[in-house]
Amino acid sequence: MKKGKKIISLGIALLAVIFGLINQNMNSDQYRVVRVVDGDTLILDIDNKEERVRLIGVDTPESVHPDASKNVKAGKIASDFTKSRLEGEYVELEFDVQERDRYGRILAYVWHEGEMFNKLLLKEGYAQVATFPPNVKYVEEFTQLEKEAREAKRGLWAELSYEPTIEEKTEGKYKASKNSDKYHLSDYTHPGEISPENLIWFDSKEEAEAKGYKPCGICFKE
Ligand SMILES: [Zn+2]
Repeated sequence: MKKGKKIISLGIALLAVIFGLINQNMNSDQYRVVRVVDGDTLILDIDNKEERVRLIGVDTPESVHPDASKNVKAGKIASDFTKSRLEGEYVELEFDVQERDRYGRILAYVWHEGEMFNKLLLKEGYAQVATFPPNVKYVEEFTQLEKEAREAKRGLWAELSYEPTIEEKTEGKYKASKNSDKYHLSDYTHPGEISPENLIWFDSKEEAEAKGYKPCGICFKE
């Protein structure tokens, strides 16, 4: 009997230790979200002080940039998403290597109701991966989440169909130089090649002409 009791009390002690350890990891402090600044920036009440927190590893489009031309529609959508989920809510913070950036902002992974909000932004298509070296412990997982959201056209990826700009094309039916207003057939062989850094490619005449280019008189002789 005595031995049995001992084992039970030992068991209870062990359980207490185990729960103590779990609690240490799970029960981090909860902070109230006073305000959502934009999709990836929050103001938290930390010990009665308002602190600016930048969600790391992600970037949402600008919505409150002082330069109004940068306040794109996408920024408003991302900001509204974060507001709808976090404003007035309680969150926990997880840090990477640095706790603050040079502007004094707290750098964190923000947890809300057992889910990391940085990941949720990527998963739902409201943010892109942004690396904040040396704070990159989730970069591979984040990259995968962004890729899946893009492919599934979730969130902003549904709104913004990605089209490469003309400078990014590396081939096409027609080509031109940034220094001229003429476009040529892609097998253009006039003297004086267009230097690679000035090359622009088009898939159609319409595309070239929409950008203000005119047909070359030699390539397009009647
Ligand atoms: Zn030509």
